[in-house]
Amino acid sequence: MSPFPRDDYRALTRYEPGRSPVEVDLSDNTNLWGTHPEALERIRSATPDDLARYPELYAAVLGSAVAERYDIDPACVTTGAGSDDVLDSAFRAAAGRDAWISYAAPTFSMVEPLALMNGMKARPVPWAHAVEAPEALLEGEPALVYVCRPNNPTGESAPVGWLDALLTARGAGAYAPLVVLDEAYADFAEDTLIRRGAEVPGLLVARTASKAYGLAGLRCGFGVATPDTALEIDKSRGPYKVAGLAAEAVAAAVRDRSGWMAGRIVEAKEARARLRDALEARALRPFPSQANFILFRAPSGSAAADVGALRRHGVGVRPFTGIPGMGDALRVTVGPWPLMERFLRALDALLHDEGGRLSS
Ligand SMILES: *Cc1c(COP(=O)(O)O)cnc(C)c1O
Repeated sequence: MSPFPRDDYRALTRYEPGRSPVEVDLSDNTNLWGTHPEALERIRSATPDDLARYPELYAAVLGSAVAERYDIDPACVTTGAGSDDVLDSAFRAAAGRDAWISYAAPTFSMVEPLALMNGMKARPVPWAHAVEAPEALLEGEPALVYVCRPNNPTGESAPVGWLDALLTARGAGAYAPLVVLDEAYADFAEDTLIRRGAEVPGLLVARTASKAYGLAGLRCGFGVATPDTALEIDKSRGPYKVAGLAAEAVAAAVRDRSGWMAGRIVEAKEARARLRDALEARALRPFPSQANFILFRAPSGSAAADVGALRRHGVGVRPFTGIPGMGDALRVTVGPWPLMERFLRALDALLHDEGGRLSS
C-alpha cells in the first residue's frame, strides 16, 4: 500500500518546464536588465549574524517597506518565499473538504498544481466567457477564484470594471470565496489594484520580487489583503519562510530610492512596443500585452517545433498550445533591445526556413 493515499497527489509531477541552458533565455519573464542595485548592495553587506541567526518570523521589514510604498497598514501585508508561496498558503487557507478553485483559462501554469497540492481541484472557465460574464467564475460556489492581471501567458489585463463586477457578484449572502488577484506583472501595466487588497474583505493581491525587481534568485513575494485575511494566510504559511537577507534586499528594492526599477520599467515598455510592431510586421498576431512578455502565433503552427528551431539559433522562448483564437503560440520575454534584435534574427531565420519548406 502506498504511504501517499491521495489519488490527486499521486497525479502530481515535479515541475519540469524542459529548460536547458541556452545562449539567450527569453522564456521565464525575469528582468533581463539585471537586478536591483540596492538589493545587491544589501546582500553584499551581509554580516555573520545575518546567516547564523533566524530571520524575523514573518518578514516584517518587507511588510513595512510595502506598506510605506503603497500607503497601507503593515497589518495588510503578508509575505512568502516567492509569490508561489503566498498563493500556496492562500489556497491552503481556503481549502476545505471538496473545495475547488475556479480561474479564467488560459492562465498561470502553477494554478492547477498548487490547487492539487492543497487537495483542491482547479476548474477552468474559458477566458472569453469569464470576460463576458464574471459571475461564471462563481458558478457552483468555488472556495477560491484566481485571476491573473495582467494575465500570464496572454499579457491581457481584465478591465477594472470587470473585477468590480466579480467582487459585487460575490458580495451578498453567506457564500464568500477568497478572490486572489495575481499581480506578478502589474509593475509593467497601466494600473494596479494593490491598494484595493487592503480595502476589500476576502481579496488578496499577490506580488512577486521575481519579475520587475530582478530578484527571482531570492525567492520572495508578498500579498496585500485586509488584516484578518493576511493573518489567515500567515497562519497557513508558517513562520521563518522568507530568508532574512532576502526580505531586507527586497525591502530595499520596494523602496527603490535610486529609481532603478522605475527606469527599467520605462525601458521595458518601450522595448515591448517596438517588439510588438516587429511581430505585427511579420504577421504573427501578437496579443496586446501589459506585461514584460508577448504571446504570438507559432509561425509553423507547432509551438514545440518552433521552440526547437529557435533553440538551435540560440534563443529560448516558452511554447503554449490551445490558445483560444490562436492555437499554438510562443511567449517571449521583453528585454534590452539588443537581446530583442537577437531574438528577431533567430525568428527571421525560422521564418525563412519555414518559407523554404512551404514553397518546396
Ligand atoms: C512568475 C510568476 C509568479 C511568481 O512566482 P515567484 O514564486 O514569486 O517566483 C507568480 N504568478 C505569475 C502569474 C507568474 O508568472
